[in-house]
Amino acid sequence: MRKVYLDYAATTPTDPEVVKTMLPYFTDRFGNPSSIHSFGQEGKAAINEAREKIASFLGAMQEEIIFTSGGTESDNFAIKGVAYANQHKGNHIITSSIEHHAVIRSCKFLEKIGFKVTYLPVNEDGLLDPEAVKKAITDKTILISVMHASNEIGTIQPITEIGKIAREKEICFHSDAVQIFGHLPINVDELNVDLLSMSSHKLCGPKGIGALYIRKGTRMVSFMHGGEQERRRRASTENVPAIIGFGKAVEIAKNSMNEEAKKLTILRDKLIKGIFEKIEHVRLNGHSTKRLPNNVNISIESVEGESLLLNLDMEGIAAS
Ligand code: PLP
Repeated sequence: MRKVYLDYAATTPTDPEVVKTMLPYFTDRFGNPSSIHSFGQEGKAAINEAREKIASFLGAMQEEIIFTSGGTESDNFAIKGVAYANQHKGNHIITSSIEHHAVIRSCKFLEKIGFKVTYLPVNEDGLLDPEAVKKAITDKTILISVMHASNEIGTIQPITEIGKIAREKEICFHSDAVQIFGHLPINVDELNVDLLSMSSHKLCGPKGIGALYIRKGTRMVSFMHGGEQERRRRASTENVPAIIGFGKAVEIAKNSMNEEAKKLTILRDKLIKGIFEKIEHVRLNGHSTKRLPNNVNISIESVEGESLLLNLDMEGIAAS
């Protein structure tokens, strides 16, 4: 049976070019980047090359990129790190009700230890109104966290506008960009973000590696204490092969992203049209145009999602 994998929001296959680039760093180039000998320095140089690729992709500086174990750690670090560092200023956080669990559960944790969190609802299309963000700000607000694009419905949020509001009020602004990073061009200055989460396995890089962009001057508390790695923001010996793979995946995405997005948008809209023509009582969830090129999310009246997915799987189609 022909198998069709339609679950790229969950994870992607690692690009063979990425694997090829990673392989020597498991064997010949195995040095610890903290070591001063040539084995270590070779690893360190390769890490910084990967860091530069990610930084230039975002319009950031190399020293503003910190490698983490993935999107989840980046979100946890951003939210808890800013909350702990700014307790003297206030205890209020604003986020949306449709964030990934990594954001929502970090906020829930902070609520248990005395922080107050506003979870703003989104409209029918899954869009957050920047005016609602503005209204929710109090003199105790220390952080606003809004995802760039939804992993479920694919809606792309007005991050630039929300970032402008945050900047005017001098409030730290974090965006979980895990789903959009590597799929559409993004620039941290245009978005007005102070923190931005990324994950490698959503763009054909290896799993278990991600990054957090931290704008220079952002007050953060670190949670991994130990060695001097990542400018003391995140101790632990670097996952060198994964970092190299992540850098390669970003390099590939940078060169192919625009073409890929055009192609996927056509396929996405063709799939939506086909479903609407052939099936009754269907609803498209999320915004029709302000959505990721690779996302289709539908509900069918009276059809239970899980049974539909199991039946699709029996036909060789993997979806979420
Ligand atoms: N944030 C979003 C929007 C995601 O889609 C995901 C992954 O599903 C994550 C965070 C977590 O990323 P990771 O799997 O790298 O921890």
